[in-house]
Amino acid sequence: MTATTTWPPRPAAPAEWDALVADLRVKLSAESRLAREEPLASRTTLRVGGAARVLAEPAGVADLQAVLRLATSREVPVFILGRGSNLLVPDEGVEGIVVALTHENWAAFTPREDGRVWVGAGLRLKTLCGLAAKAGLQGFEFLEGIPGSVGGALRMNAGAMGGWMFDLVDKMLVISLAGELATLPRAALRVEYRHCGELDAAVALGALLRPAARIEAEAIGRQIDVYRRKRHETQPREPSAGCMFKNPSGTSAGRLIDECGLKGERIGGAQVSPVHANFIVNLGGATAADVIALVRRVRYRVRDLRGVDLQPEVLFFGRRWEDVL
Ligand SMILES: Cc1cc2nc3c(=O)[nH]c(=O)nc-3n(C[C@H](O)[C@H](O)[C@H](O)COP(=O)(O)OP(=O)(O)OC[C@H]3O[C@@H](n4cnc5c(N)ncnc54)[C@H](O)[C@@H]3O)c2cc1C
Repeated sequence: MTATTTWPPRPAAPAEWDALVADLRVKLSAESRLAREEPLASRTTLRVGGAARVLAEPAGVADLQAVLRLATSREVPVFILGRGSNLLVPDEGVEGIVVALTHENWAAFTPREDGRVWVGAGLRLKTLCGLAAKAGLQGFEFLEGIPGSVGGALRMNAGAMGGWMFDLVDKMLVISLAGELATLPRAALRVEYRHCGELDAAVALGALLRPAARIEAEAIGRQIDVYRRKRHETQPREPSAGCMFKNPSGTSAGRLIDECGLKGERIGGAQVSPVHANFIVNLGGATAADVIALVRRVRYRVRDLRGVDLQPEVLFFGRRWEDVL
C-alpha cells in the first residue's frame, strides 16, 4: 500500500527521515513506538531483507490516524506489516513508513452473546484458533499453522484445508490512508483468491467473525490436531514465506515446479524446498537477491517446459515484482 510515489526522492537524505520522525513523535502518545532504520528481516518468517526507513507501532486509533494523516499530507508511502509471513523484504529495505499493529491494543478477541466474535487485526491467527477452540466456536480450525495475523489474513484472504478467511467475516473495520474509519459489511467487499480489494489502500483494524457452529471444545481440538499433523508432514521446517506462487487455475504450482525438476534447486542461501516445491526456504544467510534470482529461475523453467506463467503469491514488500522479474 502506498499513499503516493512522489516522496521521498530516491535516495532521500537521512535528515529528511529524521525530521519526519521528529514531527511524528510530538503527535503520538508515549505508548506508541517510532524507530529509524528498523531491521525487518527478524520481523518476517523468511528472515531476509533490509530495514524500514521508519517503523511506526501506534498504540491506538488516534495515533494511527496521526501517522496516516501526516504521511498522506507529505506524500510519504505507507506500508502495513503484519507478522511478515507472506513477504519478501528487499535487501535495500523499504522506502517509506512501515506501520505495524503490534501493540496489544490491536489483539482483541471479544466473543459476543450471539456467538460472533470481534477480533483485532493484530491478533495472531494461532491465538485466534486456540481461543475459538476453547470457547467451542467451530470454523476457525483451518487457521492453525498459518503464521500470520488477522490483518494479514484479511488482506490475503488466507486459506487452507478448504477454508477461507472471508468465509468467517461478517464485517470488517478499516481506516483509509486519509484516516477515515469505515465498517464494511461482507457483501460490500471485493474478495478473491489471496486478495481483498478494499485493503489495497486501507488498513484493516479488525473484523466481526461468525463461527460455523458451537460444538464441544474437544472435537475442535481433534480437528486442529489433524491439520497440524498434515502440515508437519508436508511442509519444510526452514524459514520461508509459505507458498511462493499462486496456484494457476486447475493445478498446483508446487506440482508444476516439482515436475520441472526444480526441487532442491539452490541460489546462494535460497533453495526450492525438497519437501514442498512451492516453498522457497532460507538455508541460512540468504539475501533477497538470492530469493529473487531463484523465483526468476523457477518462473523461466516452468514457462519454458510447461507454458505456465507462475505469479508470486508472496508480496515484494514496498516494491513491485514487475520491476525485478
Ligand atoms: C510456513 C507458512 C505456512 C503458510 N501457510 C499458509 C496457508 O496455509 N494459507 C495461506 O493463505 N497462507 C499461508 N501462509 C502465508 C501467510 O501466513 C498468510 O498470507 C498470512 O495471512 C499473512 O499474514 P501476516 O500477518 O504475516 O501478513 P504480512 O505477511 O505481514 O503481510 C501480507 C500483506 O498483508 C498486508 N497487511 C498486513 N496487515 C494488514 C492490515 N492490518 N491491514 C491491511 N493490510 C495488511 C501487508 O501490507 C501485506 O500486503 C503461510 C506462510 C508460512 C511462512
